[in-house]
Amino acid sequence: MTDKRRIGVMGGTFDPIHHGHLVAASEVQAKFELDEVIFVPTGQPWQKSGSGVSPAEDRYLMTVIATASNPRFSVSRVDIDRGGPTYTADTLSDLADRFPDDDLFFITGADALSQIVSWKRVDELFTKAHFIGVTRPGFRLDGHHLPQGSVSLIEVPAMAISSTACRDRVCAGLPVWYLVPDGVVQYISKRGLYQC
Ligand code: ATP
Ligand code: MG
Repeated sequence: MTDKRRIGVMGGTFDPIHHGHLVAASEVQAKFELDEVIFVPTGQPWQKSGSGVSPAEDRYLMTVIATASNPRFSVSRVDIDRGGPTYTADTLSDLADRFPDDDLFFITGADALSQIVSWKRVDELFTKAHFIGVTRPGFRLDGHHLPQGSVSLIEVPAMAISSTACRDRVCAGLPVWYLVPDGVVQYISKRGLYQC
């Protein structure tokens, strides 16, 4: 008799982490009765290479700051420490090795889910985790070309926030208060991130 835990995995660039990420993770945690949600900041993201992603340590620390107050949230360094481009299959393999007796639930927004078919080793992904696609303003949540039963689509409170918009606002001198957690606002300012 094993005590299987239900573990959510929220991958992202988190450059910076914002309240859209946090609300989505919180909603999935509650609806799927997850014991824990692990946020996994990417290493050098292959889809975004060359576009000037912030240093992994900054993205990691902002994710730690943003999640610290939630007892069900934690942050993993697997993708950062592996180095090189991040593939979701590697993320899930590493976490499956770490939690061999538990069930993994990979949480992804509508935009990322629609790219899922372009991911490497896509068949393998569905054997390693159950996928949960969440709604995101501006994107259609559509799973019609995904294998039946491997993906759940759920609605989460709409937060029309993106990291891109947060970076653009900082660069333009506009506030990001209430779009990202207070500690993240302060970290961005302290480290001088997203200045043009
Ligand atoms: P960028 O603009 O740099 O792409 P982003 O806001 O899309 O940043 P990511 O780190 O790329 O953030 O996203 C990580 C995951 O969180 C993805 O699965 C994405 O779909 C999801 N996500 C991001 N923002 C939201 C949001 N506002 N609501 C729901 N899901 C979101
Ligand atoms: Mg994105």
